[in-house]
Amino acid sequence: MKPLNIIIAGAGMGGLCAATALRQAGHQVRVYERAPELAPIGAAISVWPNGVKVLDALGVGAQVEAVGGWMQHMSYSDHTGKRLTRFDLAPLYTHAKRRAFPIARSELQRILLAAVGEQNVTLGVSCEGYVEESDAVTVRLSTGESVEADLLVAANGTHSALRSAVAGQAIEREYCGYVNWNGRIDADPQLAALDEWTQYVGEHKRVSLMPMGNGQLYFFFDVPLPAGTANVREDYRIELQQHFRGWAPPVQRLIERLDPAAIARVEIHDTQRVPRLVSSRVALLGDAAHAMTPNIGQGGCQAMEDAWVLAQCLGQGEGVAAALKAYEAAREDRVASLVAKARKRAAVIHGENEVETARWYADLAGADGRDILDGLIKTDAGGPL
Ligand SMILES: Cc1cc2nc3c(=O)[nH]c(=O)nc-3n(C[C@H](O)[C@H](O)[C@H](O)COP(=O)(O)OP(=O)(O)OC[C@H]3O[C@@H](n4cnc5c(N)ncnc54)[C@H](O)[C@@H]3O)c2cc1C
Repeated sequence: MKPLNIIIAGAGMGGLCAATALRQAGHQVRVYERAPELAPIGAAISVWPNGVKVLDALGVGAQVEAVGGWMQHMSYSDHTGKRLTRFDLAPLYTHAKRRAFPIARSELQRILLAAVGEQNVTLGVSCEGYVEESDAVTVRLSTGESVEADLLVAANGTHSALRSAVAGQAIEREYCGYVNWNGRIDADPQLAALDEWTQYVGEHKRVSLMPMGNGQLYFFFDVPLPAGTANVREDYRIELQQHFRGWAPPVQRLIERLDPAAIARVEIHDTQRVPRLVSSRVALLGDAAHAMTPNIGQGGCQAMEDAWVLAQCLGQGEGVAAALKAYEAAREDRVASLVAKARKRAAVIHGENEVETARWYADLAGADGRDILDGLIKTDAGGPL
């Protein structure tokens, strides 16, 4: 296919990966980002091997590896600190032929922005809407200008204002019943081992600590709560102390040490299956196409996979509309199944059905990790690389 003129809405990890992949394929790309400056929301992200392999293909895997965390084991303890299970992640890494790398979101963004080239990203300008013709798409910008392109990639996140037009129906975000606080903290063996993803579960809540590189741990707390509870930064520590009263000493230490000014508090949402991921000149990508709960750590990894697959499909030379159909066919079942899997994990972890959650706690006690590893391997094996 001749080089295309492509507009990407959104400079999150999905938009930046797409821009890198499409530029590498020889297309001309302009990214418009609504925010006046790029400041990631949230501390870190775990990039599982299926995502890392895309980053390798985009030429940035080694940079991610250099600054990412080294996670070799995974453990679960109950809320009192009693160890339920601990196992090695080696079987996953061997099968996937790549490790996972938890990484600071700011580092990932820096690496991807450099790969795209800052000159190709326009900050402070959003894509407000579009009109498709048979051979082009005209994108309306927040500046009042209209710009024409061969293709618009809507990588504008979970709140995407472009999604419903592509899907052909209104797509609402759905609250998944719990709140997540996340941040970073200096690593210390009194909090968690530096080579381990450490998790505490109980009372339908969860605490997680994960090495994220640069001598830091990425932590999060999950608590089932009704929608719309007060989000008052000054109260975060007291809130967490109340939710986690009586939990293990490392959890108490974490709450004492964290900096409330530097953490995010997020009500977790997802979207049901989006019925159409493309129209003739527009493709949805990343959270705009498939917002999912973070419970399987795949939202960002799937955005990376989308980016890679889209560039491959456009390389097949059948024309834009056919390439977009091929992209949709390659992605729709994969992402829908992971959205559903992530929602199911959230339900089990957070006590949507108390009997199932109690069974999960019981299964974890003494587990050898094989079931968890099988799930991780299956997710990896379903990826494009
Ligand atoms: C607590 C939490 C933990 C997570 N942990 C993981 C994890 O461990 N592993 C993992 O793989 N995933 C994880 N995820 C999911 C991951 O963060 C998302 O899937 C990923 O950020 C989606 O990237 P994106 O580029 O599609 O969207 P976003 O990152 O939301 O980027 C969209 C961008 O578009 C911009 N924008 C919006 N509207 C417009 C417009 N009209 N025009 C132009 N720009 C616009 C926004 O400002 C934004 O910069 C987690 C999510 C949460 C909430």
